[in-house]
Amino acid sequence: MDHYDVITIGAGGAAYPAAFKLKRSGRSVLMIDKKGVMSGNCLSEGCVPSKAIIENVHNYVKMKRFGDYSLDYEKLVYLKDHVQDIRYKQHAVELSEAGLSIKKGNARLVDDHTVSVDDGTGTVSYSADHIIIASGSDTFIPKFPGAELALTSSSFYSVSPKVRHLPKSITIIGGGYIGMETASFLSLLGTKVYVIEMLSKPLATMDPEPVDALMPLLPQCEYYMNSAVKSIERVADGYRVSFDHNGSMEHIDSEFVMLAAGRAPVIPEGTEELGIKYQKSGIIVNEGMQTNIRNIYATGDVNGITPLFHAAKRQSVVAANNILAGDILVDYFDPVSVPFTIFTVPQLSFVGILPEQAKRENIKFTTAEFSLDHDAMAQINGEMFGKIKLLVDSRMKIIGGYVIGNDAGNIINEIALAISKGLNIRDFAEMAHQHPMTFEELDSIGRQFY
Ligand code: ADP
Repeated sequence: MDHYDVITIGAGGAAYPAAFKLKRSGRSVLMIDKKGVMSGNCLSEGCVPSKAIIENVHNYVKMKRFGDYSLDYEKLVYLKDHVQDIRYKQHAVELSEAGLSIKKGNARLVDDHTVSVDDGTGTVSYSADHIIIASGSDTFIPKFPGAELALTSSSFYSVSPKVRHLPKSITIIGGGYIGMETASFLSLLGTKVYVIEMLSKPLATMDPEPVDALMPLLPQCEYYMNSAVKSIERVADGYRVSFDHNGSMEHIDSEFVMLAAGRAPVIPEGTEELGIKYQKSGIIVNEGMQTNIRNIYATGDVNGITPLFHAAKRQSVVAANNILAGDILVDYFDPVSVPFTIFTVPQLSFVGILPEQAKRENIKFTTAEFSLDHDAMAQINGEMFGKIKLLVDSRMKIIGGYVIGNDAGNIINEIALAISKGLNIRDFAEMAHQHPMTFEELDSIGRQFY
């Protein structure tokens, strides 16, 4: 049996930063992935391809101010495929330059030092001093008749996706961020979009204040809240979704139905037998990403803490540092300073402690905000709406914030860094942010205090 210092189950964002670091530090590493390629679901059907579409729809919306442009959706899908292709090639080069390789197959935990891999032709076992479980997450498929008829994010975003033309109409089941991002760009392109959500409003699990400010700015969709889908069936020109809406049965017919009812962790076979503790949201880990078995770590979507690619990358490095320290915790993951962007048009980004949580937890805070209709770059882009809002504690330390509108997904990173490094509002006031960039409103807000 071949032996490695470290084996990773998965080769996505939760695995490869650790693999690269450990390899650079002289450790032998084997990555195992069902797909046999690096980058996981982010590149295959997640962040990269969805943004390849959404970002260009956003550009199209801005260009429409100057003329009667039309957008060829098939070409946009072709561009998306091309971006994925470039990045897969790039990752293959990075992998070989690092002296690493990926074993393609389905990994199973045999014991706390052994992993077996079924590659379709047979099973091979490998032993390792340390194992990093980085098996990610998958679309959650609810159990109702016809659920298999629905599209998922992969039908839009995987390479050569099933949907290559612009749908005339679509019913999206789930008003979370994946559902709302897809609803937003399709609606801007002219698709009739219905959103069915079990809870009382879209993005209901997020802090209500920024969500309530975002909703009126989003493109038109038809919303059905407090609604539980009962079935999907085929009809003449598409599909019929039947759902319980406030106690009465209703139906919507549309060309497509998309399931966006959340994602579930992918728990590798053998996890339970080995006694690794896990719950519905994922494998349980400590701040150093260690499971209840000292030499086994679980990073990224599989632990459910912050299921985002950038958080997975950071967790991966935390695990590597702790492995290098001999399973003594020397590095910790801080979930509070992880920024989150909903890539609707416009975007909503947030980080840290937000108003509802602060009130719930009795955290004393002051707020300051800047309305982006007064921001030069927002005016240049014709996006004179939205705002930046910061929460500061009684020592003027930045504890949270959100941005809606122009460049939100970029600006939030600076707020996140400020939270992570314990900066206060004066640090923003003293920074000469470039003009005209929407970031500059961070020092405008800072100057309200000094
Ligand atoms: P993360 O962002 O947490 O890395 P991803 O979902 O992007 O999560 O990546 C997880 C990767 O793990 C995917 O490429 C998937 O194919 C792979 N994977 C999941 N389960 C297994 C398994 N049992 N054996 C091998 N690879 C797996």
